[in-house]
Amino acid sequence: MNRSTARLLFAIPAEMQYITHIPPAGDSVTHKGTVATMTKKKKLKVNPAEAKQRIETIFPILKKTYPDAKIALNYDSPFHLLLATILSAQCTDVRVNMVTPPIFKKYPAPADFLDVAPAVIEEEIRSTGFYRNKTKNIKACCRMLVDEFDGQVPRTLEELTRLPGVGRKTANVILGNAYGQQGIVCDTHVIRLSRRLGLSDNIDPVKLEFDLMEVVPKQKWGGWTMFSHLLIWHGRTICKARKPDCPKCPIAAHCPAANNPELW
Ligand code: SF4
Repeated sequence: MNRSTARLLFAIPAEMQYITHIPPAGDSVTHKGTVATMTKKKKLKVNPAEAKQRIETIFPILKKTYPDAKIALNYDSPFHLLLATILSAQCTDVRVNMVTPPIFKKYPAPADFLDVAPAVIEEEIRSTGFYRNKTKNIKACCRMLVDEFDGQVPRTLEELTRLPGVGRKTANVILGNAYGQQGIVCDTHVIRLSRRLGLSDNIDPVKLEFDLMEVVPKQKWGGWTMFSHLLIWHGRTICKARKPDCPKCPIAAHCPAANNPELW
């Protein structure tokens, strides 16, 4: 993907970008939209009843393996989590966490952004990449928060997805982490692991979210939000995009793709 294509894609909410990134046969989505050529993949047959049963087995194992699994972005309020999530598009969480402390201090509430010149914000967030588009999204989002939500981050998926630049993935991050509600976050790790584990072969994050809502318990063991954290942690530490470490994987005995590169 060249730079101008990347710029065009950024205008689309992060969730939708996966749809435009559907890779041709023989390629696979790796990290945050980059595409790497790999050997042609076999498709696993997904059976929802088996997927449900598999989740009953692997959920407690993953929970025991990653007892501290949580969101990697730092924040101190729902608004700052929204801000950090917008900044995290096409950027690592580590980088976002480096950039946000002075921003959180300077802009405690959405109204604080309204009279600031875009060039000032662009400079403050430059190192997170795509800083011009991110600044536009932040300004437009804060404008709507002030005008329509009394400066508060809303608590429903419907209202959150009305905010400029906020799609279902970002909305579920806010609901699940800032408001203690249940939400499945379909990021690149959740998409990849869901396929390898035979839970769903949808790479469209919205379709995948609906598939997972059918088979993942909504409340048990921490529910949808915790399941998302666990898959993300497992994807970052063991079931990596290019080469999963199946010999070290605690759920290998229950994974249809274990030690089978054709299914990665
Ligand atoms: S067995 Fe391998 S492919 Fe399956 S979840 Fe574990 S690391 Fe990933």
